[in-house]
Amino acid sequence: VVTGETQGRRAVVVGSGPSGFYCADQLLGEGFLVDVIDALPTPFGLVRAGVAPDHPKIKAVTRVYDRIAGKQGFRFFGGVELGADVTREELLDRYHVVVYAFGAADDNKLGVPGEDRPGSYGAARFVAWYNGHPRGVDDEFVLSAERAVVVGNGNVAIDIARMLVLDPDELAVTDIADHALEALAASTVREVVVLGRRGPAQAAFSNPELRELAHLKRADVVIDAAELELDTDSERWLDEDADPSARINVEVMREYAASEPAEGRLRVVLKFLASPVEIVGDGDDGPVTGVRIARNRIETSADGRLSAVPTEHEEIIECGLVLRSIGYRGRPTAGLPFDERRGLIRNAAGRVVDEAGLHHTGEYVVGWIKRGPSGVIGTNRKDATDTVECIREDVAAGRVHQPSLGAEDPGPWLAGRGQAVGWDGWQAIDAHERARGEPQGRPRVKVVRLDDLHAHARVSG
Ligand SMILES: Cc1cc2nc3c(=O)[nH]c(=O)nc-3n(C[C@H](O)[C@H](O)[C@H](O)COP(=O)(O)OP(=O)(O)OC[C@H]3O[C@@H](n4cnc5c(N)ncnc54)[C@H](O)[C@@H]3O)c2cc1C
Repeated sequence: VVTGETQGRRAVVVGSGPSGFYCADQLLGEGFLVDVIDALPTPFGLVRAGVAPDHPKIKAVTRVYDRIAGKQGFRFFGGVELGADVTREELLDRYHVVVYAFGAADDNKLGVPGEDRPGSYGAARFVAWYNGHPRGVDDEFVLSAERAVVVGNGNVAIDIARMLVLDPDELAVTDIADHALEALAASTVREVVVLGRRGPAQAAFSNPELRELAHLKRADVVIDAAELELDTDSERWLDEDADPSARINVEVMREYAASEPAEGRLRVVLKFLASPVEIVGDGDDGPVTGVRIARNRIETSADGRLSAVPTEHEEIIECGLVLRSIGYRGRPTAGLPFDERRGLIRNAAGRVVDEAGLHHTGEYVVGWIKRGPSGVIGTNRKDATDTVECIREDVAAGRVHQPSLGAEDPGPWLAGRGQAVGWDGWQAIDAHERARGEPQGRPRVKVVRLDDLHAHARVSG
């Protein structure tokens, strides 16, 4: 419903991932004029730079965002980074509503000795590298080991394990960055051990991601049946409280445990109740040679949660590569209250609030920087609806931010910040990438260097 109060007011959305687009769409529906800025000249956030290259169907969601970008009142300014090219205050000077949608792109750390050895990396870095995010182009990973360990039990951990064992032919038809295609084709990794802190019943894999592992062309899934013997608390929880996907996961794992891996094939080994306590290597900062793990048991805490508690039993898994996939976290931004523990902007249902719970009038959040790294792409749509509902309520109640330069169109100002790229600039990049991909039977060949991206954006004129 377009109301008199919101008609023609200006909103800026910082970040053009799924949450930014869903929010922009709903703000347009409310009658706002919406500018979306992104640090990169390319839009779509983790749909471009997170979703695995071998999952093209999931990336097709960008068609929805293309339609939003075509709507009256929408403008895109890529290559404009909050904090580097524009400040929060400058945005507040020009917009009635500022929505932060810049996601959470840093890795959580394990906090164990040896974590920074060569050969030990965060998932976000590895994912950015194989997906051709400009910040990952010059990264290098040790792929000359026989065994890799992936720490974590979510879908990102599975993505990473899959990327390490996919056949080069399977990768060659995707939009994986060329540098990663080449490096992974030369990789000597033959076994990937995926470690879960808690038991199989608590793994956060979604059922399709877990099932998909059965279809790997050159790798088998290996689970020791003993790993699937549930403790009584987990058994009860699975019967009484768990959602059906946890039960299905355990069934799928039992099928894996019952099948014999074939000789000579690569392996993805799922291990549970194991926490890394040290990344082992030569000397203080020599390369990784293994992971020391503590075996855990499940304990029901006072609040009824099942948590992992270390036992005295430790062992070392020899490996030359460790990728920790234990969650993404946001980065603090000057002037914005930050919840250090959760790694996100402090907020109440989408309103940016200070420590005392007081709303920073005019400032809102959506997506991963609002609620942390959880859910699927579609979760960000409902999330955006909730935030826009707060905006509508605030406008209706007169709790509105009045920008000092609100009468001016911020367009020319934004266009002069950073190396701003408009939607047509992105479309020129897109067309170029697709054209490069076509002769190779690939959806696109990504341009991965910032300078090159800008050069292709300019071709559009
Ligand atoms: C490895 C991985 C794989 C995934 N696979 C799937 C999947 O298969 N299916 C699924 O449903 N979900 C998947 N997800 C989850 C999904 O990607 C997220 O739910 C979604 O992308 C979160 O959206 P967002 O808009 O909050 O953040 P993001 O998608 O991270 O978008 C944030 C945007 O903000 C920009 N930005 C950052 N800082 C600034 C700044 N200072 N100034 C301006 N712009 C900035 C970034 O460039 C980016 O474009 C995956 C996530 C990861 C990490």
